Amino acid sequence: MSKINRYPSETYMCPECESTKISDEVEDTWRCPKCKSLIHVHIECQTTGDRIALIRKQASELDEGDLFLFNGKLNKESYLILGIKTSKNQLAIGLKGWGQVKLTPNTPVNCRIGMWE
Ligand SMILES: [Zn+2]
Repeated sequence: MSKINRYPSETYMCPECESTKISDEVEDTWRCPKCKSLIHVHIECQTTGDRIALIRKQASELDEGDLFLFNGKLNKESYLILGIKTSKNQLAIGLKGWGQVKLTPNTPVNCRIGMWE
């Protein structure tokens, strides 16, 4: 998943091991090499100073309730996933306040999980 949309400055943390990771360790799967937890990615918006935490999943790993971020808009609004339908080789993902987006199952997706301090 190295082709995922990244922010210019990011830090990577495993919430289970409570340790910081480097890009090389996590960029293939976005999971901790040791305990396989989803890595928390911290970004700081250069214009607003907002500190945003996110996780990275393949579209096939998304769940209802995840907060979907569009590519290039990691520091912008996120959209609640209301439902996911599979048809042929595509996933139709219903986003609250937006509508439906269609993705192939191996598309990497950023999901907002909150803020950080
Ligand atoms: Zn870990």
